[in-house]
Formats: sequence, C-alpha cells, structure tokens
Amino acid sequence: MSESMDVAGDGIATFGPGLRRTVGRAVRDLGGTRALVLSTPHQSDMAQDTAADLGDLAAGVFDQAAMHTPVDVTLRALDHLRAVKADCLVAVGGGSTIGLGKALAYRTDLPQVAIPTTYAGSEATPILGQTEDGQKITLTDPKVAPDIVLYDPELVVGLPATMTVTSALNAMAHAAEALYAANRTDDSDAQARAGLDAFVHGLPKVLNDPTDLAAREATQKGAWSCGRVLGRVGMALHHKLCHTLGGSFGLPHAETHAIVLPHAIAYNARSAAAELKPITDMLGGPDPGTALHRFADRMGAPRALRDIGLGQGDLPRAAKLASEQPYPNPHPVTEGDLFALLRAAWAGHAPVF
Ligand code: NAD
Repeated sequence: MSESMDVAGDGIATFGPGLRRTVGRAVRDLGGTRALVLSTPHQSDMAQDTAADLGDLAAGVFDQAAMHTPVDVTLRALDHLRAVKADCLVAVGGGSTIGLGKALAYRTDLPQVAIPTTYAGSEATPILGQTEDGQKITLTDPKVAPDIVLYDPELVVGLPATMTVTSALNAMAHAAEALYAANRTDDSDAQARAGLDAFVHGLPKVLNDPTDLAAREATQKGAWSCGRVLGRVGMALHHKLCHTLGGSFGLPHAETHAIVLPHAIAYNARSAAAELKPITDMLGGPDPGTALHRFADRMGAPRALRDIGLGQGDLPRAAKLASEQPYPNPHPVTEGDLFALLRAAWAGHAPVF
C-alpha cells in the first residue's frame, strides 16, 4: 500500500489504495477504544466491513445517516452512541455520513475518522449544515472537523458515473466560489486552482476508466483541496442557492450543485471576470459560465432542476428565499435576477447572464 499525506494543521489526510484497512491504527492514534461506525442505509455493507476491520475496536454500526443531516437522525444516533459507550467516531461514506459524524462530534467532542466515498469535501472543513423544520442552518466550529481522513481510491471505484460527475462538480463549486471570495488570499487562490485543475484533468480519466486508481486518487486530492478552500474562505450566491434548494425543497445535494454551478458563475462573472479567469484558462470558452456549462455537458451532468424534483411553481419561493439574508456576493443579488437564473436552471437552458 502506498501512502501520501497532507497535514492541514487541524486534520491529517492520507491517500492510498487499501488505506481503509488502516482504520484501526487511526482510531488508536486518536486514543479511541470503542468506535461507532456511521453510514447511510445504502452503504451499510461498507460500514460492516469497516467494523470487521476494526475488530475489538468496534463498538457498533449506526447506518441511518441521511442527506442534509436532519437533527432527528442525529438525536437517534446520539442515543445509540451513548448506549454502546462509543469513544470515537468513524464515518464511512459521502457528505451525509460525514455530516452525521460532525453533528455527533459537535454534541460530544468525540474524535473522528472520516473515510470519504464521494468528492463532496465535507471531511476537509470545520463546517456543519443541519436541517430542522425545513431550514438548513450552517455553523462553523473547529471541533466538527474530522481529525484523520483516509482517502482510499478503491472506495470511489464503485461510485456510479452520474454521481462521479455531480460530486466532482460539487467539489469544483467550492473552488470556483473561493476564487472571488471577499477574504481570499494568494494561498486560497492556489488551493482553489489546484482543486479545479485536478477535476478538469482527472474527471474525464475516471469516467473513461472508473477503475483507474491513480486518476481516482488524483480526483480525491482535488476533493481535499476543494474542501480545504471551502473551509477557509466565504462562499457566495452559488452555495446560498444550493442550500435553499436542498434545505427548503429537498433537492439532492450533488445534482443541485452540478446544475446550478454554471448559472451562478455566469451571474457573478459580470462582477468578477478577472477573479474567474483561471476557469477559462483551464477550460477555454468565451466566459467562465459558458465554459463550465460546456464542461458539465461533456461530462454528462444533469442539466435541469425540473428533472431532480423542483416544480415550476416552486421557482418564485426559491428566488425569494435565496435572496433573503444573502451571503456576501461579488454581484448584487435581486429576487428578480435570481428568478431568471433559476428559471433557466430549471428548464435546462444555458446560463442567461
Ligand atoms: P451523500 O453522502 O448524501 O451520498 C448520496 C448517496 O450515495 C447515499 O445513498 C450514499 O450512501 C451513496 N454513496 C456514497 N458514496 C458512494 C459510493 N462510493 N458508491 C455508491 N454509493 C455511494 O452525498 P454527498 O454529495 O457526498 O453529500 C451530500 C451532503 O454533504 C449534503 O448534506 C451536504 O450539505 C453535505 N456537505 C457538507 C459539506 C460541509 O463542509 N459541511 C461539504 C460538502 C457537502
């Protein structure tokens, strides 16, 4: 097993095929003796496999993680955690499972190991979004960032092609918005460019050969870069739109990011053309929104919000909610403009701005 490591100050990420098998060492490094393994119902087998790798260090499995970290699921997991007297958390899965681990760490201060199986990047951030009463509330707290991240490319080999694309675009969205963040630095710009570059080059390779472990590992490094930069600088309109559509309309996370990204970037390119230039440098195209739209299309990404559960009648409320308490954004945000943006994304049209 070859391993490479990135120490980010508040967390350690290691990369390499087969790395999931070292989960016991990671738990012991954190002082754990009874780890609770977390997953979604869909990835329950993977969680059982991890528990088997942990052997005596496994306190049990909770396999009910759900999208957008609903608080009622967290409270059930908390009961389970206390019943089995867990002293460490191991999240095996995508952002939903890692979100549950963070929500539990937030309430218990337990150390966490994350074993990501998508590119969402939550494992690299101190951010926790939780959903209650149809509202997604986000908080930032260093104690929710996983302590050790094990990126095993063998675990993303089975990520279906559509999820590979949407999850990659989700990661790229963090980096794209980081480019025009009000609090960006030269360092965050470099990290954002590295993340984008990893997917611009790596995504076509993993779609061409999903079992290409070197390319999968390169895209996981991209996910780490994109996640790190998400945790470091402020996000803007794109993330506000996606949080609104996910939290208040129940739309699936990665697909929503994939569809909205070219539209939000086109919207903001009117005021941040210079900041977004790395995107056209990498992808070509007359402007960053069109470049991302064409890239997403070439990769086979979904195009229309209407295909993933948003009704046409939802558009006015979505525009209204997304324009309330807006995140700092390079271009002025108005409800009317957001309605036009969302109508184009809903219909699967090219960006209108
Ligand atoms: P997900 O974790 O919801 O996974 C979607 C489905 O795919 C689940 O059923 C999951 O079990 C399955 N899956 C995951 N990996 C798989 C694999 N390799 N093979 C087959 N099936 C697999 O999806 P996601 O997009 O990774 O995460 C979305 C969630 O993460 C959202 O709630 C979002 O808000 C959160 N998120 C948080 C942050 C943060 O910093 N707080 C960052 C990004 C995403």
